[in-house]
Amino acid sequence: MRVWKSIAEWRTHRETIAAKSIGFVATMGALHRGHAALVERCRAENEIAVVSIFVNPSQFNDPNDLARYPNTLESDLTLLQKLGVDDVFVPTAAEMYPQGYRMKVQPDERYRIMEGLHRPGFLEGVATVVLKLLEIVRPEKAYFGEKDYQQLMLIRDLVAEFFLPCKIVACPTVRAESGLAESSRNALLSPAAREKAPVIHRTLCTAESIEQARASLEAEGFRVDYVEEHAGRRFAAVFLDGVRLIDNVALCC
Ligand code: AMP
Repeated sequence: MRVWKSIAEWRTHRETIAAKSIGFVATMGALHRGHAALVERCRAENEIAVVSIFVNPSQFNDPNDLARYPNTLESDLTLLQKLGVDDVFVPTAAEMYPQGYRMKVQPDERYRIMEGLHRPGFLEGVATVVLKLLEIVRPEKAYFGEKDYQQLMLIRDLVAEFFLPCKIVACPTVRAESGLAESSRNALLSPAAREKAPVIHRTLCTAESIEQARASLEAEGFRVDYVEEHAGRRFAAVFLDGVRLIDNVALCC
């Protein structure tokens, strides 16, 4: 497994593997079973499997959230090696934004719901960094999780809008036995909060309406950012122990 920090060096190597099918998984590290499922699928469906680890500063609207985002690079690399990954791209912020934020991708008002409304700059930051990563890696297929459903839709639209030659593959949400969606942020929860967190998924599945879902989450002690329904899915973002968690389910679940 090769680890690349420099875009220029990766690109030189990229030319030597241009004839092969390249699959790509973009991550912010602190890898868990959810990431592993994307990487395994990428590994199985492509000759070359590339993973990026980059905690993208431009998608954090809260500096504290960025500062305490977990960093487990050594164990992440060990996991990726075990999963048979060929190349890992681990750029610095200076490598990705050499001129600062000179240009950004601006999603229009149709994205001003859920994360697009409650985390100003988040979708813009994601679209911008994913455009950069897809241009750098130039994969045939890129794998994204349904756990971040609005992000997945945004990236599908990004690829269509800019005619990028890449197929976006959606992967189902990986959950703990309790139903809790695997997330890097789960590591920040206290043991008591971790016990309570599965209530999010249970409530999304069982509440009769978004109003009822909000009320029962609040009654359980969550601070609710939103509960919304769009296109046959129910979505929630909540704070528990000051940690922001998101989840979504298909309404027929
Ligand atoms: P992140 O490191 O949080 O930016 O996530 C990197 C990729 O892994 C994104 O496409 C996420 O949607 C995906 N992902 C994160 N958690 C899960 C999960 N529990 N199940 C499936 N995919 C996930």
